[in-house]
This record gives sequence, structure tokens and C-alpha cells, in this order.
Amino acid sequence: MIIEAVAQSADGKETPLTPLISDTRMQIPLPQALEGKGGHLTLKISWHYTIPGEWGGRTAFSQNQDGEVYEIAQFYPRMAVYDDQRGWDTAPYLGQEFYLDYGNFDYSVTVPKGFLVAGSGVLTNPDTVLSAQEKARLAQAATSESRIMIRTPEDVQAIVHQPQTETQTWQFHMANTRDIAFVASPALLWDAARLNLPPLEGSDAKNPAPRLAMSVYPAESAGATKWDRSTEYVKHAIEYFSGKWFPYPWPNAVNVGGHGAAMEYPGIVFDGKDDAGAELFWVTTHELGHGWFPMIVGSNERRNAFMDESFNTFIDVYASDHFNHGEFAPKHDVEFAPQTGHPADDIVPVLKDQDAPVLMTPADLISEKYRHSVTYFKGAYGLQLLREQILGADRFDRAFQHYIALWAFRHPTPSDFFRVMESEAGEDLSWFWRGWYFKNWGPDYRLKSVSYVNGNPVQGARVQVENKGWLPLPVVLALTWMDGSSARLTIPTETWSQRNTVTLQIPGKLAIRSAVLDPDHMIPDLNRLDNSFTVKLTAAHPAVPSAAPTPTVQGAPVP
Ligand SMILES: [Zn+2]
Repeated sequence: MIIEAVAQSADGKETPLTPLISDTRMQIPLPQALEGKGGHLTLKISWHYTIPGEWGGRTAFSQNQDGEVYEIAQFYPRMAVYDDQRGWDTAPYLGQEFYLDYGNFDYSVTVPKGFLVAGSGVLTNPDTVLSAQEKARLAQAATSESRIMIRTPEDVQAIVHQPQTETQTWQFHMANTRDIAFVASPALLWDAARLNLPPLEGSDAKNPAPRLAMSVYPAESAGATKWDRSTEYVKHAIEYFSGKWFPYPWPNAVNVGGHGAAMEYPGIVFDGKDDAGAELFWVTTHELGHGWFPMIVGSNERRNAFMDESFNTFIDVYASDHFNHGEFAPKHDVEFAPQTGHPADDIVPVLKDQDAPVLMTPADLISEKYRHSVTYFKGAYGLQLLREQILGADRFDRAFQHYIALWAFRHPTPSDFFRVMESEAGEDLSWFWRGWYFKNWGPDYRLKSVSYVNGNPVQGARVQVENKGWLPLPVVLALTWMDGSSARLTIPTETWSQRNTVTLQIPGKLAIRSAVLDPDHMIPDLNRLDNSFTVKLTAAHPAVPSAAPTPTVQGAPVP
């Protein structure tokens, strides 16, 4: 991007200013400081931008069967965030993402006639750029729960075989957003369906109702397991996240089948034209999930990557469970539980890896090797542990919803998140933040022994459990007696405040056949080999109670 000129406009006059440019950062010294408490100024920045080649780092150009596709993003000068924590954000652009503030956008895109432009926000001049047929189909989509083709393969063929000499300007508006992006191409099919959401407040031409889920993709991406289903996924993600966490605040949501950046922008996401099946569902849901983190909750994704990728991956796990009776559940991809689909087992190698960075590491310092395993998976699984093993869904969901609403369109830090969750859930979680976010600690429990009072099961059993790890997550102990009856109890975190071995008194009964810590693999115990005690069933130790006296068993962990 080349900055050509910067000027301050006031009272119809333009005063040229001399910017200080350091690589991708520009400072504009003002002749007079901007007044606080509502002071404002108008800057006019002239610039130009050359579209990079195939892979432009989150923006792309690609050649397709029916023509070129331009996915245009990160193409204009952005104002850095000034917040009350650190002053100006100083991170240079390194080809990744921006930490951005909120504003209202009006933008226009001039392209050859026949091109389709799909962009963040809402198209404000449909009468100028759409055909009567396209407008009629859009009106039909606005009442349809399933997709309606707005631009068909036949429409695209007619366009690409007709030489175009004129241009058209597409105008868009988007309010209260961090960013905008758009795609332009003659080759894209376009379909849409109604978003089943209430109209936005103050609906008008710039804020239309009903709102639409849309997909644009080249003809070669069409297919029953491919992009034919994209709009169904868009509709589900936006409606589900709106109902579960926070209402989607923008008019439309668009999924683009393009170069395959898998990149999110408010109101539009760039996915891969070759994505299909579960991958297409997961990537669509993930990129749209960024609408909530960091587009609605405006955390600093450069400095605190986990508040972006892991919060989003966490909500995606439940979106997978929710979609179409679990058609693509459980989420099991490069971002979450990549080996077996079982997070408690798959995270253990990460916790044992001495080189793995902690979640508090800034995004730019995390190598590609650990980007998914730590920032996405470990972070998302941390929230899942919090929800399912520590707080329970009711307390967690209420607290997390409150965090989102409290920090919507603002800039929370990790401490803001930690404090809101503790305060709203009503639980001191400092031990968990320390062990999971600031360290790579894991739980490691050992079933030390099983014995009986006076050697007699009828008088009661004593089960000794040792805490060998650094992260004392609540752990379930499952007991099975010789007659096959069983019971479970949870050993809470507070147990370990002042000791590392605890003896549990179990009321008298038959001898214990087995005792297992974390039987369902719900916590990432670092060594499961010492988690269980089992009596080998023999004639002396039958499974079913017999007339013989109940055997007394001296417990010892196995192996
Ligand atoms: Zn992401």
C-alpha cells in the first residue's frame, strides 16, 4: 500500500500533513492536539494498493474455470486502536491480522459490468447493479428457509461469454464494525436463504430486514456434499451462535468459495472452493464464529491469540453437536482433538511437550508447529474443562454470556475475562488460570491403595488417592463392588489445598472389585497407568456373591 498524501479537512479547507511512516505503521503528527471528550477531526488519506498475487496473506486472487476471483481484504489504511491499557497499539502488520477499533463504513467497488460483488454489510444500490430477476430471487430468498439461487450457472455462462466494456459501482454500508472485506468476480454463483433472526433496530435501506445467509462460489464448487450446502451451514452458524451466546449484529453473512485462506472478516468469510463434507461445515462454522470473537468481542488477537481462536473453537465444538442431530459431531479436525477426537487424550502430548508455548504467548511468537495445538485446541479445551468439569454448563454459560455482552464492541484483556468468569460463575478459578493459561500443567492422579477397616470390607473401605500433578482438576472415582453394584464420587479441587494424598472412607459393603480414577477420560490425566485398581476374578474372588464368606482383599494399585 502506498500512501500518496494526508490532509486534515476543516471548514472546507484541506491542510496537508506530513506523516511519519515506519514499515506498515503511520503516525500523523497534528498541528493541534485533538480535544478529549468528543473532540473530532477529519483526515483525508490518498493511497493506492496493488492486489498481490495468488496468496496475498489473507487476501487473494485466483483464476477459476469461468474467470478470476478477487478476494479483497486488508487493503486500506486502518486506524490503530488507542485504548486505556497501553495507549496506541504498536504491532506492525506481519501478514496476519489486525487489532481494530469499531466504526461505520460506506464503501464502493467499481468493477466491469457483469461482475458480482459480495461484501461486508449491505448492498445499498441494488436497483443500479442487480437485474430484475436477481432482485426477484432475492425477495424469494428473504422468505425461504432453504437456499434460492440468485445467480445460476446459466447466468454466469451468459455473463462470461458477453464481452464487457462498461463498469458498475456497487455501494455498501456496514455499521459498528472492526473491518470490511469483499469479493468481486464474474465467475461466482450466488445463493441465499433467510436468516431466522429478528430485524435489526431501526431497519431502513442501510439496515434491511429480513436478513440473509449467502454463499458465492465458482461453478466447479457446486455439488451435493460441497458448496450446495454452504448456505445451510451459514444459516445454522449465525442463528445458533445468536441464540446461544449473543445476537448477530449485522444484516447479512456471506461465505466465499475462493482461494482457501480460511479467513474471517465481519459479515464475510473467505473459505476454500475445494472444501467439502465435514471440512466445509467446520471451516464455515469456525470462520463465522469469529464474528463473535474477535469481531463482536474486540479482544487483541495479536497479543492474546487465545481470546480469538480458542474462544471461537470452543463455541464451534457445540455448534457441531447442535447441527442436524450431530451430522458432523464431534468436531474433530486440525483445530480440535486432532488425533482421536477425544480431547482429554489428544491434549496429553501437548502438556508433556517441554517446548510447547503457554496460552498467554502473543500470536506472533507462536510457531506454526504449535499454532493449532496450543492456541486453538488447548485453549478451547480449557473452556470445555471449565464448562463441563469445573463449573457445570449452567454456571459457565451464564458467566460466558455475561462476559460477551459486557465486552461486546469493546477491548477486553485476559484479566477482564478471568475476573468476569470468576465473579459471574461464583468460583475462585485462579488455580485454573495459572495452571492452564500461564503454565502447561496437567492433572496426574494415582490410585495408591484400597484396604479395609480391620481387613474386613463390611466395616468399610479406605481408598487412597495421590495427587502427583500440578493442576488439580476435579476427578471422578468409580467404584465397583464384587456383586457388580457401583458408585461414583467426585474428588473436588479443594481436597488438595494442604495435602497430596487423601484417604477416602467408603461405607462398609462387599469387597471392591475395581476402583478407577477418571473412568470416562474427562480430564487430561498425564499418566493413566496408575489410575485403577482391579481384582482379578478367580474362584476365590467370584464376580457374583456366593455362599462362601466374602473375600477380603488387600488393595494395591495395578500395575
Ligand atoms: Zn480462526
